[in-house]
Amino acid sequence: MKTKGFTLIELLVVIAIIAILAAMLLPALNRAQQNALKASCLSNLKQVGLAFHMYAQDWDGFTPAYNTRWHSRLHPTYISNRETLRCSIGTKKYPGSTNYFFCMNTGASGVRLIGGGVRNMSTCIFVGDGYSVYQSTEAAAYTNATTSTGSGYDDNWYMGSYGYAYHPVYRHNEKANVLFLDGHVDSIPMGPVYVAGGQYHFCSYGVSGIDWSPTY
Ligand SMILES: [Zn+2]
Repeated sequence: MKTKGFTLIELLVVIAIIAILAAMLLPALNRAQQNALKASCLSNLKQVGLAFHMYAQDWDGFTPAYNTRWHSRLHPTYISNRETLRCSIGTKKYPGSTNYFFCMNTGASGVRLIGGGVRNMSTCIFVGDGYSVYQSTEAAAYTNATTSTGSGYDDNWYMGSYGYAYHPVYRHNEKANVLFLDGHVDSIPMGPVYVAGGQYHFCSYGVSGIDWSPTY
């Protein structure tokens, strides 16, 4: 007896079912990947916080200023792997590039981390997902970072109360990963972040912020 094979229609139905199942699965996989990257980025920031703490212990309690190539002050002395200073999305997207490095809030630059004098440390954004000083969009950031003839990752990457970017970059499902001055990390939603006294804010010195004084 002759064995009957699949008809074309049957084959197409099977392919369609597989395609539908794959389409259902992909968003879940994508979400899982995004969550993993977000967690990895937060872990990097946590380590950056610990490194700043160690740095401050060696420097009379102070952190480096934003414009002193602070990345290279932490790496390799206090952070062995340079990639720890980078958002995990950048590490995945552009392996080995100098893009997506964390930025420092200019208002928390050269601040006294140990020894008192700084208020609101648990709500003051210190370092986080941000744009570099030279770029206003992530596309431009990538172009500039890979064509720059400068020192790349340890240029003055900052965000904050003055400069080019006034907010962190919300690249983790519309949230931004940030490290606070007290050392804890969090994923914060979009919102006004540089208002002193808010739930999250860019702390600053001088007239508006009064979270700390340059004399500390
Ligand atoms: Zn990130």
